Amino acid sequence: MGYELNEKIRDLKPYDPISGDFPVRLDANESFIQVPQKILQKISDAVLSIPYNRYPDPLAKELCESFGNYYHLNSGLVTAGNGSDELISVICSAFLMKGDTMLTMSPDFSMYRFYASIAEAKAELYYKKPDMTIDVDKLIAMANSSNAKLVIFSNPCNPTSLGLKREDVRRLVTSVNALVVLDEAYMDFWDESLLDEVVSYDNLIILRTCSKAFAMAGIRLGFAVANRELTNAMKAVKSPYNVNTLTQKAGFVILQEGQWLRSCIEEVKASRDMLYERMSILESNYAQRMHVYPSVTNFLFVKISQADDVYYQLVKSGIAVRYFGDFLRITAGTKEENEKFLLAFEKAIRL
Ligand SMILES: *Cc1c(COP(=O)(O)O)cnc(C)c1O
Repeated sequence: MGYELNEKIRDLKPYDPISGDFPVRLDANESFIQVPQKILQKISDAVLSIPYNRYPDPLAKELCESFGNYYHLNSGLVTAGNGSDELISVICSAFLMKGDTMLTMSPDFSMYRFYASIAEAKAELYYKKPDMTIDVDKLIAMANSSNAKLVIFSNPCNPTSLGLKREDVRRLVTSVNALVVLDEAYMDFWDESLLDEVVSYDNLIILRTCSKAFAMAGIRLGFAVANRELTNAMKAVKSPYNVNTLTQKAGFVILQEGQWLRSCIEEVKASRDMLYERMSILESNYAQRMHVYPSVTNFLFVKISQADDVYYQLVKSGIAVRYFGDFLRITAGTKEENEKFLLAFEKAIRL
């Protein structure tokens, strides 16, 4: 007897974006902010009273209520996930049938295509313009001509750091015969969310996460928000106990800390602005070599000639950033981390 892996999984490798020890980690768009002791204590207290012998609340009611309160939403329209990554996986496997077309963009978050391929769907790609902006009319035309059942993209976009305005997203949602999944993982850093009007559409799911602006990547917690019918479907197809009780408690505590969360967002934006300003000065000195895209997120996207050389120089200095072909993506860090990065980057680009 011999067992062979099927062709859709045969060549897959475990996700391990970076190996090695890096004193400066600016590669994963995490927050550089540590949760303060006072809030950690509240999490510890909450975790002490968990009935560990019992399964978690499958609908994570308390948690979804605190999410609803923070964003002023009806918590009945919120589904919690084990990171928004899990929700993307659930959406691709449940809302797509084998052979269906999913439309996404390039560049954009690579997990969309990955989950579509596991769902045996076809991924169509809209290629962004060289300035990384999106022609929404072309995108709409492509969704309709390819008969896409699902259109999924990040807004603001990882990795380009640019955003689409509300008006454009509305036009897209109302012009396609597809479910639109709007991944707003970085929208806490910008102000063009469609959360407030999500119930007005029968084909829109918005994803949010605690991993970026809320400094909680470690607990794995994300949310989907949609109208009643889509929410019922989401809750019915997800695995019942997808968000463990520890995460539900920690997420509940964090989402009660509105003032702290808003201060984190401001602190991260200030770091990004500082990094952008300093990189723009470098760009004016090395204009043939590099271009920094304006950012509405917590990271910068930089086009660089010989990006691979620059990347390896940074790695040698113990600094991790994300490398994509002709581009680097750099997460805003602490002041010290940004300075270390800038020093190493300038040295590398002078070579
Ligand atoms: C980081 C990221 C996520 C993943 O969020 P998790 O909640 O940590 O799974 C989703 N979408 C985009 C675009 C991201 O950059």
